[in-house]
Amino acid sequence: MTTPEPTEPGPAGLRMRIGGEWREALSGARFETVSPFTGQPWASVPDAGPEDVDLAVRAAEKAQYGVWGRTTGFERARLMHRLADLMERDAERLAATETRDNGKLLREMRGQMEYLPSWLRYFAGVADKLQGEVIPSDRPNFMVYTRHEPVGVVGAIVPWNSPLMLLMWKLAPLLAAGCTLVLKPSEHTPVSALEFAGLVEEAGFPAGVFNVVTGQSADLGRALVEHPGVRHVAFTGSPGVGMKVAQAAAGHFARTTLELGGKSAQLVFPDADLEAASNGVIAGVFAATGQTCVAGSRLVVHRDVHDALLERVAERAARIVLGDPAAPDTEMGPLANAAQFATVNGFVERAVADGATVLTGGRPDPDLGGLFYRPTVLTGVRPEMEVAREEIFGPVLSVLTFDTEEEAVELANSTRYGLGAGVWTEDLRRAHRVAHELRAGNVWVNAYRVVAPNVPFGGTGASGWGRESGVEAVREYTETKAVWIELSGATRDPFTLG
Ligand code: NAD
Repeated sequence: MTTPEPTEPGPAGLRMRIGGEWREALSGARFETVSPFTGQPWASVPDAGPEDVDLAVRAAEKAQYGVWGRTTGFERARLMHRLADLMERDAERLAATETRDNGKLLREMRGQMEYLPSWLRYFAGVADKLQGEVIPSDRPNFMVYTRHEPVGVVGAIVPWNSPLMLLMWKLAPLLAAGCTLVLKPSEHTPVSALEFAGLVEEAGFPAGVFNVVTGQSADLGRALVEHPGVRHVAFTGSPGVGMKVAQAAAGHFARTTLELGGKSAQLVFPDADLEAASNGVIAGVFAATGQTCVAGSRLVVHRDVHDALLERVAERAARIVLGDPAAPDTEMGPLANAAQFATVNGFVERAVADGATVLTGGRPDPDLGGLFYRPTVLTGVRPEMEVAREEIFGPVLSVLTFDTEEEAVELANSTRYGLGAGVWTEDLRRAHRVAHELRAGNVWVNAYRVVAPNVPFGGTGASGWGRESGVEAVREYTETKAVWIELSGATRDPFTLG
């Protein structure tokens, strides 16, 4: 197939960015993305196929093994700071785009957009400090040192719930490491990645460092993961797809980082500050309409404070203001798409049939209709029930009760996931003890859902592997090379080792 000429940059960059050029899909196809609030299409983007992925990976390889591969960490850091400046300038526009595409609150997306440049700045600070070490040799005639070299082209696949944040968690460390990227955003939220590509261009990154392909078909993600030019796949999404991604990447020995789902527990002990705990429980499961990977969707509460806590939680949940995600007073927007709405509804219906009690919510919002679902609290949940085990990814809290600390830890750990956990207690010893016992990548004590560029984030078990954020994240995108220098010039016996 011959490669058609690229088109000129489009308004708002709604063409794909491949090899430093704005491109339509090779097939010429486009698709429309729908606002979950209005239910109407609001933007049209290229509908790419595997042939576009191939073009993008080849462009990324050209930059990787060419101009970008030769940049110093200092130069990469300079470009990353410039991109951070541009994100700060355009935070409001990017936030509005994300809200239109996924229906999350404008004030949450604004907060994310204002914070994300910190990831670029933090990892810019790492880019020029990727030094290896000189290893004292066990032989006098050798000098040995290590280099941390970029792993190569990274294929990133992100979901719809926080498109640019989940991109940034990959982009900042991989740029610092000296890698190039082919990004495939979710088919539900393709627009912000295309707008962001315009900022990458404006910042002056060389052609082929940042490439983005948009499309509706799962073939696109598959083609990216299976492409032999991709040396690392950075995936955020569901465990089911994550497993397929890991298997396909292994088919050509590409490395993977997987940030998958969760069924995170919030443990409330009898000595907890119940006002703070109820606020934390609300924040954990109803913020972002429960559509966060770290949603604290299981409440594990001591029997003695069960009623007092649930009274507070149910009262606040019932008062949550649902509505236009762009309106300043709105506290919860709609679910992000129709499939997500059906999933949430189905989980609640099956839980009730299985014996759970709806303390509040448990139904779509009668006034708003559409994709709005009332914040839901289910009591009387048993550990073996589906709502206690499976990720819902919606505003549904399942409540379990315990009597002893051991039982609380056991309940919290009785999941295949291991992403987040909250511990609510005023007892310092218990706080540390329980935090150490919990099998989760992130534990918050008397807080929930806090992240930062310098703190590792990731999971265990079905929540995936690898860490994003924190200085160690850059190691996910580097290979360590050992360089041996013979110093004596003597001739060695060729038939012995070393
Ligand atoms: P998903 O797994 O359905 O899709 C994620 C991405 O994978 C999308 O871009 C999709 O197009 C792509 N994809 C689908 N099939 C593919 C295939 N066979 N090969 C390659 N790519 C493929 O997830 P979703 O519904 O978009 O997002 C929700 C999930 O993401 C939840 O499980 C949630 O917990 C998880 N999540 C995790 C984190 C985290 O950091 N741990 C953050 C946000 C969301």
